[in-house]
Amino acid sequence: MTSFEEFTEVCNKVEGISSSLEMTTVIAGFLIKVDDEELEIVTRFIMGNVFPVWSAMELGIGPSLLYTAISRASSRPVSQIQGFVKETGDVGLAAEKAMLSGKTHLNFFSEGQLSVGDVYSRFKKIASLTGKRSQDSKIKNLQYLFGVAKPCESVYIARLSIEEMRIGVGEGIVRNAISEAFGVPVGLVERGFMLTNDFGEVARTAKKEGEQGLLKLGVEVGRPLKMMLAQITTGINEAICEMGSAAVEWKFDGARVQIHKKGDKVTVYSRRLEDVTASLPDVVKFIKTHVHAENAILDGEAVALGKDKRPLAFQEILRRFRRKHDVSATAKEIPLHIYLFDILYLDGESLIDRSLTERRKKLDKVCDSEILAIQTVTGDIPEIEDIYQKALGAGHEGVMLKNPQSLYMPGKRGKNWLKIKPVMETLDLVVIGGEWGEGRRANYIGSYLLACRDPGSDRFLAIGRVATGITDEQLADLTGIFSDLVISERGKNLDFEPKIVFEVAFEEIQKSQNYESGYALRFPRLVNVRLDKSAQDSDSIERVEQLFTEQKGR
Ligand code: AMP
Repeated sequence: MTSFEEFTEVCNKVEGISSSLEMTTVIAGFLIKVDDEELEIVTRFIMGNVFPVWSAMELGIGPSLLYTAISRASSRPVSQIQGFVKETGDVGLAAEKAMLSGKTHLNFFSEGQLSVGDVYSRFKKIASLTGKRSQDSKIKNLQYLFGVAKPCESVYIARLSIEEMRIGVGEGIVRNAISEAFGVPVGLVERGFMLTNDFGEVARTAKKEGEQGLLKLGVEVGRPLKMMLAQITTGINEAICEMGSAAVEWKFDGARVQIHKKGDKVTVYSRRLEDVTASLPDVVKFIKTHVHAENAILDGEAVALGKDKRPLAFQEILRRFRRKHDVSATAKEIPLHIYLFDILYLDGESLIDRSLTERRKKLDKVCDSEILAIQTVTGDIPEIEDIYQKALGAGHEGVMLKNPQSLYMPGKRGKNWLKIKPVMETLDLVVIGGEWGEGRRANYIGSYLLACRDPGSDRFLAIGRVATGITDEQLADLTGIFSDLVISERGKNLDFEPKIVFEVAFEEIQKSQNYESGYALRFPRLVNVRLDKSAQDSDSIERVEQLFTEQKGR
């Protein structure tokens, strides 16, 4: 049994180290010592994951639930816990501070008895609680954990609750630590991770079966593997210069899916490798009707089609993916089509080490053309231009150029898959509000509410929030600048005088009821703080409308 205190000590030690080599050695030393049954758990915990990333289990603990649990365990008001978070900038330190002198109700365990396994079991229980009344039970279970933990342990219970460890351990360090701990090549650990998506399983395999075991880890129907990703390219000419000739496909405007077929059982995974089968019965039906293989893993894009057969906005697809109730009604309202473009496994054979050309031949053989992405292998630039224009004309995003000789590299973004799509312009938007951050950003304004100008009324109309693209240095500078512009403050929300303009890039403009402008930005990111511009120089609602209609020829 590994005590949670020992885990806490290792985390504290790692937090104080700046060299990744040293961190790796400390973690490797710990992994060697950990009991077999707790090795998987510890390996995930150290990265801030309670469950394998692809597992359907979710803790469902937000800041307010966490603060309530700490408040109850320490007999302090929630407002004081929030104060500690603001003061320390970290939920872990805030929990420790609260528990140090707070009164605990529970003390069932004697000192040092809380094990890693105990914490995991309690988290598993919390994840299993769903439904309307689950919040209170979740709080009780979490309160219990804080109640029995020592104050130093509560740091990591709090951080694990929101799955943010803040000890600087990323995938690279865990990969190297597993390699060092069990004497197996780093490349094999990395490969294992791409195939299983879970360092816990990789660590267990490395310990129990060594190199041979890792080599045996392969593609398995029912266990999602990381998806191969695409790199953006500057243009068709450059891409063809590099590739010679390319397998050209439309870049469909939809959502990525990985589909596992095992006899009659079809499982659909989202891009984040979450099991979304229950929400997508129509995709399952397509596969059952049009895929003529017993066992297969397929890669493709699900697209929501409107009445005119053009793709609907991305948020419509998201509605389908997130839907848990009344699935069939939503499926009727937003029908999906599926376009498959790759096959990774077929009837007992892994295909990821075969070339795209070979994989595509197999795909063509087992699937009806209705559900296949059309592929044209060519090096002819005008021909590719033509495919590109047709894709845009049909409302899709652009084209993908793939190297026909390339292998399927799970989780890799490389030049074997290149995406070509029109570059979206940026918008200059006025900042009208903000929100205090959480965790590491607790003392800073972490996100900003943006607005465009309404020339008719001289007002500013909200269009979305931006939190991405802000560097740590900017975070501090901007907090300073905006502190002087605060008009009012309600809880974590702030209203600012509309003075500062942000230049913001985004993937797409969407219609939205959530903001006054009637639009929202998908994936907004800060490009520049335009101190050279005044609020009156910001973009108008007309320009937003114009960009909305122009995008993808809508
Ligand atoms: P991006 O999300 O811009 O990085 O582009 C990569 C994504 O494009 C993939 O993850 C897929 O979801 C999507 N996609 C659409 N059509 C294709 C295609 N023919 N081949 C590969 N990916 C595609």
